[in-house]
Amino acid sequence: MPRTCLACSHHEREAIDKALATGEPLRNIAKRVSLSPAGLLRHKNHVAQAIVKASEKREEQLGDNLLDEMRRVQRKAWELLARTESEGDHRASIVRFVGPDDEPERESP
Ligand SMILES: [Zn+2]
Repeated sequence: MPRTCLACSHHEREAIDKALATGEPLRNIAKRVSLSPAGLLRHKNHVAQAIVKASEKREEQLGDNLLDEMRRVQRKAWELLARTESEGDHRASIVRFVGPDDEPERESP
C-alpha cells in the first residue's frame, strides 16, 4: 500500500506548496513545517500534478464559456432573423456571414 504523503495532508499545505513553487530551499521549508526534505521532494510531484489539473480545469472552463457565448450569439441571430421574417421583412434572409477568407484584400500603404 502506498505511503500517504505527509505534506499533502499537512495543515499548512498551501504555504508548503507556495514555498515549493517559488523555489525555496527544501531544508528551509522542512525545518519550518517539521517534515523531511526527502518527503518534500516527493511532494513536489504532487504540486506539479495539482497545477496541471488546475490548468486543465481552467482551459475546460474557458472553452465552455466561449461555447456558451457562441451559442448565445447564434440564438440571438436566429431570434432577430425570425423577427424580421415574421414582420415580412426578408432582407435579412439574404445577409451572409463574411469570414476572414471572404474579405477583399486590402492594398498595403
Ligand atoms: Zn504530497
